Amino acid sequence: MNKTKKLILGYDYDDLVNELKYLPDTRHYNIKQIYQWIYKKHVNDFKLMTDLPNELRTKLNDKYTLTLAPPEQVSLAQDGTKKYLFKFDNDKYVETTVIKEDKRTTVCLSSQSGCKYGCKFCATGKMGFHGDLSTGEILWQLLAIDEIDKFTNIVFMGMGEPLDNAESVFKVIKLLIDPNGWGLSNQRLTLSTIGIPDMLIHCIEKTKINIAWSLHSPFDDERHQLMPVQNIYPLQTIIDILYEYKYYFSPHRKLTIEYLMLKDINISKAHADALAKIANLINARVNLIPYNPHLHNEFLTPNYNEMINFQEKLKNKGVITTIRKSKGNEILAACGNLYTNKKKIH
Ligand code: SF4
Repeated sequence: MNKTKKLILGYDYDDLVNELKYLPDTRHYNIKQIYQWIYKKHVNDFKLMTDLPNELRTKLNDKYTLTLAPPEQVSLAQDGTKKYLFKFDNDKYVETTVIKEDKRTTVCLSSQSGCKYGCKFCATGKMGFHGDLSTGEILWQLLAIDEIDKFTNIVFMGMGEPLDNAESVFKVIKLLIDPNGWGLSNQRLTLSTIGIPDMLIHCIEKTKINIAWSLHSPFDDERHQLMPVQNIYPLQTIIDILYEYKYYFSPHRKLTIEYLMLKDINISKAHADALAKIANLINARVNLIPYNPHLHNEFLTPNYNEMINFQEKLKNKGVITTIRKSKGNEILAACGNLYTNKKKIH
């Protein structure tokens, strides 16, 4: 990024008005045009905003920028999964993953560099916390990738806990679903969270996007071992919220439980029974995720039969259950793996 220029990528319409109203000869309709050039047409060069007066384009170009640094590293797996490594200000490393499956191309966005929550199975958790991403830094992960005009879905499931950086994430969502902005359907966006009560309620009430709750164990003690955040937000608190708000969800707005399958740890019959009970209570489907082993962890991936058996147990209890295909293992596609590999964190 040009350090002498101010980044206005990520500014919503009101922010642009506040920022640009003092720029001489800038009318309100010019600001509307600029907003649409940025978010609807994905143009990041003021000189290409052809319906703006030439003088205004020059003034904008002298003072502002809409770009950040391109990805530092791009890795492509044989199955088409692609991983981008970005470096933002203050050495904030961030990973963005693009996953192709049938007709769907999903971009997995990061909301923070590293993470505060230190889940034991997560490479990002090993990094520690390096900072929140700004609205512009989150959006740049979409604008700087080859798939900018090809993706079908977005998941906030990369590095970090999105509801721990809620202000920026909600603003990005607003820009993405605004018909005068990116114009995406709510159904194409999913926010994945460990469950931060106030912000979870806000997300359910104020947006219409899908929510994926990272559960990983239906038992308090065990979840506490796997996810230290459990200290702060006990399981029952999140279950109570999702139970109360279950009617906000429908076949068009999905509530999913994300469940990482860890060999010999969380795939017993008792786990299936307790998980099915929670899923049925809150009307959630379950997405089972085979653990993606990386370089510095003690967990193992269950074998195929173990995974299918666990899925069958849930199905027998009436839970809609899918097993996520493992993607991009050779490029370390789970969040945080590329960074921790680069930095040799063990
Ligand atoms: S699983 Fe999510 S909340 Fe837990 S450490 Fe990783 S990024 Fe953070």
